[in-house]
Amino acid sequence: MKYPEVQNFINGHFVTSSGNRSIDIESPLDGTIMTSMRLSTREDLNQAVITAKAAQLHWERIPIKERVQVFFRYKQLLEKNSKELSELIAEENGKTLGEATAEIDKAIELTEFACSLPQLVAGESLEVSKGVECRIEHWPVGVVASIVPFIFPSMVPHWSLCNAIALGNAMIMKPSEVVPLSCQRIASLLKEAGLPDGIFSIVNGDKEMVEAICDHPDIDAVSFVGSTKIAKLVYARATSGFKRALALGGAKNHLIVLPDAHAEMTGSNVAASMSGCAGQRCMAASAMVAVGKSDHIIEKVCEEVKKIIPGKNLGSVISRQAKERIERYITEAEQQGARILVDGRGVKVPGKENGYYVGPTVIDYVKPDMAVAREEIFGPVISIMRTDTLEEALKIENENPYGNAAAVFTQSGGLARQVMEKANAGMIGVNIGVPVPREPFSFGGWNESKFGAGDITGKSSIEFWTKLKKITVKWNPESRTNWMS
Ligand code: NAD
Repeated sequence: MKYPEVQNFINGHFVTSSGNRSIDIESPLDGTIMTSMRLSTREDLNQAVITAKAAQLHWERIPIKERVQVFFRYKQLLEKNSKELSELIAEENGKTLGEATAEIDKAIELTEFACSLPQLVAGESLEVSKGVECRIEHWPVGVVASIVPFIFPSMVPHWSLCNAIALGNAMIMKPSEVVPLSCQRIASLLKEAGLPDGIFSIVNGDKEMVEAICDHPDIDAVSFVGSTKIAKLVYARATSGFKRALALGGAKNHLIVLPDAHAEMTGSNVAASMSGCAGQRCMAASAMVAVGKSDHIIEKVCEEVKKIIPGKNLGSVISRQAKERIERYITEAEQQGARILVDGRGVKVPGKENGYYVGPTVIDYVKPDMAVAREEIFGPVISIMRTDTLEEALKIENENPYGNAAAVFTQSGGLARQVMEKANAGMIGVNIGVPVPREPFSFGGWNESKFGAGDITGKSSIEFWTKLKKITVKWNPESRTNWMS
């Protein structure tokens, strides 16, 4: 096999899991088996928690300005190794090299943000009565865990690990069992950057390891990113053990296109949003609501979509099952009367016949009650619904149970403002198909796309990864005493 067996990373060392069950790690680009991975046991997790707990007690005593020096060095290592890291992401996940490089760029941006945390967590202090001072300090939560999905093998782990560790926590990462290799490189680069042993650990596994993390009494907080069904299970299980939890779920993002929208800009944005990362991202456009006379824009969308070629500027989807699921959705919509304007079914990439490719697909005349309109397809597919008014379009968007992102395409500031106010989603775009907020703005959806308070990145994450200590001090005996201080 091309890569050695996937290892856990515990107390600063790569170690073999004690589990007996093993799975193959496959590259979806061409179906080759890259390596294998043993699923870890509760004992492996326990070892990781014991060493993390001991290491965290020292780590939290180091002033944050010193702690973040690790991330200044780590950022340089990400930059230096960007090409190799991107190639690994592309190989294990199936995305294009350009998309994988963008993922490393984003990991660098997240690391930069962590480097700025000392400026953001400077505490507050005030003389609250004569000679009496109140002060607020941010303290780490302790040993925390992060459970991540397959879609961004490097970026999503960086959403949590940089801020959590810079803020004084020790982190245990549970990578997706489908793409565990990038996390191995993250661990080795963090070590090279000087992160003390035990502060970052990896415990590989699947459902059982997720349950073990939720149940472990010495893990104080859990962040999760993945599908809504599992996000709900993780949130409920972790909080029932009195842990902090933040669980990000799936999405069904609507782009509302008004007839006055700039046709070229809208066409290229819609095409890029629905097909980037083969539509396997929680910010992908999945439904387009075309308001009024928008045929000229739909034509532009199709024109742009036809420029997207599987195996060239479109990566593979993650697995054979994913390809079959996506193609089933398209066929079902067709059977229910929708029109397939661009059809991505049955694609084969020459030289990569065993890869899992789905071509970009545009489905028109979709009705809001069809499965392609309601459910997360997670493939390069856009379902177009047509309405006469903006109110009807907003009703369709509002009725969807998810709430990650929504966007409007128009040249009218007033109409854009209506969508900004009335769309029922946490991240809104105006003439932008993938409205990901960049640091220092935080990332997170609403409704069935997120469970728990606050967001996972940016300033909002400081609340999640720290607890506040409130200190009241009086030194001078002459200061007046009242019942409050
Ligand atoms: P997934 O929910 O299948 O897996 C995510 C994690 O949960 C993995 O680490 C996996 O090992 C674990 N897991 C899987 N089944 C489990 C079970 N039954 N019990 C406990 N744990 C289990 O998600 P995925 O397929 O890896 O990723 C795709 C999903 O992630 C999509 O729904 C996508 O929208 C979502 N996602 C959301 C965001 C966001 O920010 N909201 C970001 C990226 C991806």
